Amino acid sequence: MSDATKSTQFIDMEAQYGAHNYHPLPIVIAKGEGVWVWDPDGNKYMDCLAAYSALNQGYNHPRVMKAARDQMETGVTLTSRAFYNPRLGEFLKKVSEITGHNRVLPMNTGAEAVESAIKLARRWGYDKKGVAEGKAEIIVFNGNFHGRTTTIVGFSSDEDYKKGFGPFTPGFKLVDYGNLEQFKQAVNENTVAVLIEPIQAEGGILIPPAGYLKAIKDICEEQQILFMADEIQTGLGRTGKMFAVDHDGVKPDVFMLAKAISGGFMPVSVVTADEEVMKVFDPGSHGSTYGGNPLGAAVATEAIQVLIDEKLPERATELGAYFVEKLNAINSPHVKEVRARGLLVGVEIKRESGVARPFCEKLKEYGILAKETHESVIRFAPPLVITREEIDWALERIEKILTTDAPV
Ligand SMILES: *Cc1c(COP(=O)(O)O)cnc(C)c1O
Repeated sequence: MSDATKSTQFIDMEAQYGAHNYHPLPIVIAKGEGVWVWDPDGNKYMDCLAAYSALNQGYNHPRVMKAARDQMETGVTLTSRAFYNPRLGEFLKKVSEITGHNRVLPMNTGAEAVESAIKLARRWGYDKKGVAEGKAEIIVFNGNFHGRTTTIVGFSSDEDYKKGFGPFTPGFKLVDYGNLEQFKQAVNENTVAVLIEPIQAEGGILIPPAGYLKAIKDICEEQQILFMADEIQTGLGRTGKMFAVDHDGVKPDVFMLAKAISGGFMPVSVVTADEEVMKVFDPGSHGSTYGGNPLGAAVATEAIQVLIDEKLPERATELGAYFVEKLNAINSPHVKEVRARGLLVGVEIKRESGVARPFCEKLKEYGILAKETHESVIRFAPPLVITREEIDWALERIEKILTTDAPV
């Protein structure tokens, strides 16, 4: 078998047996190290997607790998929550330390964390705020992305996410992201929570106006509403702070974290809050078989400690600023705007120049993996362990693709 057929075979097998709910770029990642990946044919690429920011610590991080191995070797990877395990407590403590919340609920995927937060907010609304049974409302935002369950897609504003999946869960009110007046008008006595991404990443790297998150938080405090921050993609160093809300000096009542919390090793997510809120969950009210499993807990504890020890948020600030400065210096006829915070970078392609996908395909030819979001935006979100030299390597190629070698 010639080498070149290896990737093709893997791609064909996925296509033959898999549900076709994705449209991947035709590259098979078979090996990874830091920001670099290799396909089975030996071609090397820089990964500038980092699994939608799950790989902030980079591929094959030695410390996280060791934590995973050590835990696996104990022979205990899953106990269920019917019993205690020796890893969960330290994980919850670590999450509590970085979030400042004193209660942590472990789940697995991001969508599960969001679902759990919705249940938490509703029950809190009935038990603590005194909202009439069945009337709780949660304010959400046009352009949101919170995952793919039926409840979550039901309050999406994107037809692709929801078409044909109804009927949907009621109790959500959509308002425009960044529009404070609309938010104020949506609030009423049944509002139990606002569910917000501090930056809409899937929505196209949309950063709300300065002071917007703070203004919402102030209203939440006045009106006894939970401010629930979905930091599944923006959290854990990506934007240059541990959490994106830190840029606005906002302390949410509830955090949802996933993705980079386990450094890309396995699905681990959490919902965090203070006891006053979290206590509405009592035994029997919520759960997950794999939630809080010792393997995930061991991996995630170490993955968080790596973020802290390697100062990855600070790196994101410094290298993000450098990357954006250089991107802005590229004189491209195709770029409408560069939007960024830390190493979460969106390059919006002008409408006249078509969509972002051909640019991503061209980037792949040049050895850079990036994925378009919202049709017109190329997202660059490399692992935060990237070096300045590696950014320079990428910039050289990105410049060509945005100028002389553009696919349009
Ligand atoms: C990825 C993501 C989710 C969903 O996480 P899954 O693990 O894919 O379920 C939710 N919210 C945001 C902001 C995300 O980026």
